[in-house]
Amino acid sequence: MSILVVGSVALDTVETPFNKVNETLGGAASYFTTAASLYNQVNLVAIVGSDFPREHLEFWRNRPVNLDGLQIKEGRTFRWVARYHMDMNSRDTLDTQLGVYAGFHPNIPKHYRSSELLFLANIQPELQMEVLEQVPRPRLSVLDTMELWIMTTRPQLTEVIKRVDILFMSEEEIRQYTERPSIVAGVRQLLDMGLQYVVVKQGSYGALLFGADGTYFSAPTYPLEEVIDPTGAGDAFAGGFLGYLSKVEPQEDGLYAIDEIKRGVVHGNIIGSYVCEDFSIGRLRTLTIDDVARRYQHLVEYSHFDPNWRSR
Ligand code: AMP
Repeated sequence: MSILVVGSVALDTVETPFNKVNETLGGAASYFTTAASLYNQVNLVAIVGSDFPREHLEFWRNRPVNLDGLQIKEGRTFRWVARYHMDMNSRDTLDTQLGVYAGFHPNIPKHYRSSELLFLANIQPELQMEVLEQVPRPRLSVLDTMELWIMTTRPQLTEVIKRVDILFMSEEEIRQYTERPSIVAGVRQLLDMGLQYVVVKQGSYGALLFGADGTYFSAPTYPLEEVIDPTGAGDAFAGGFLGYLSKVEPQEDGLYAIDEIKRGVVHGNIIGSYVCEDFSIGRLRTLTIDDVARRYQHLVEYSHFDPNWRSR
């Protein structure tokens, strides 16, 4: 099952309390594509400028990544500058330069339109809607967003939320969007908009899965001793989630079994944890499915407890 992603491909400048990198490969779609291509074919739709280093394209060409939908336009690639605090769950965006994204409209190549799994990575909701109009019925559609769109284009974001199956949001974004202090109440409000699932990203604390069918699952987090750079962890999480599901047979009703959705969330957490071990997509370059399997076993051990407890 192939995977379609539409989102940003960027050059990021990132500073942490310990180090700094300049104009390294970034963008939500870059993290997603690199992560999901560990599992399956990824069809990428994005835009870069004429200044985009060709070595990044070469890297993707050596993986199961289809670049037919990547537009290369005269001009500057999207640039993003951010600084992390000592608590690496929080950061400041210092600069965003849209470059060629300013005039971007996603054009989904015909041979991409049968992709069964769709990830609408973080870009303007209007552009996400343009994608949904070109790919009206994927088997599973997943939406990511950010504070900027919640604050500046809420009505458009609402229309997109109503059209997808799964929404990924951080705790903070859920509070911002729903204006409810309780995450559980906020998630309920989101599920009432027609979503099948909401995944609540909790940074270094893992992720929560809520289903319209009443499902609740708390996915464990891998205890990393050192976080080098958490940028893109959410996008890589989505790559692990959809990458895993792309290998799984849906049920007869066309939906994924809840246990598969839970495994997908655990894969997401694992890939998200690996991304934090280096700047940019550094750690994903060499990551293998055996590395994922090892961490999967650790998480099973770390989160299992005996259900047979009795008070004395
Ligand atoms: P994350 O850490 O998951 O929030 O993703 C960070 C990535 O999002 C960075 O690589 C940025 O290049 C990209 N990004 C930041 N701001 C925007 C934006 N306004 N639109 C699209 N992508 C963005």
